Amino acid sequence: MSGIKITKRNDVYYVEGWLDELSDLQPLLKTTDAPLRLNFRGVTSINSIGLGGLIKFSEALRDRPVEFLELHPVIVEAVNIAPLTVGGQKKLSRIKSVFVPLNCTGRHPISLPIQIKDLDIKGKVIELPAIHCERCFAPLHLDELGDPEDFFFFLVAN
Ligand SMILES: [Zn+2]
Repeated sequence: MSGIKITKRNDVYYVEGWLDELSDLQPLLKTTDAPLRLNFRGVTSINSIGLGGLIKFSEALRDRPVEFLELHPVIVEAVNIAPLTVGGQKKLSRIKSVFVPLNCTGRHPISLPIQIKDLDIKGKVIELPAIHCERCFAPLHLDELGDPEDFFFFLVAN
C-alpha cells in the first residue's frame, strides 16, 4: 500500500496510510475548519519524502488553529527529531494526543490514546496518567517505546 486516504467524520479528518511520495495532503489546506482537527492514528509509516511533505504542509498551515490527534509513534519519532513536522517548536501545542502501544506486567498489550494534557511533566521527568489494564488491573506502561521522557522527548527537549 502507498499513499494516504483522508476521510472526514464528526469534524475530524482521519488520515490513514503511508506518508510517502504518493501522499497528497493538499486537499486539507483547502478546508476551512477552525480548528482543523487531524487524526493521524492511521498513519503507520513515513519515509523521508513523506516527512518532507508533512513539514511543508505544517508550514503552509501558518497560524491556522490545528489539532493533531492520536499521533502514531512513527510521527512522534519524527517530531522528536524535527519539530517542523508539526510546524516548529512554537507549534508543538498542536499535538493534543498520541495513540500508543501499552503493556502491563501481565503482558496484556493494548493500544490506547493518551492526551498530552494528562501527562504529569515535572522538569525533565514525564509520568503517564494512571491507566490500568482491564484484565489484571496492573498499571500500563509504554510498550517497547522506552521511557516517557524518551518517547515524549519533544515535550522536554528545551
Ligand atoms: Zn494486564
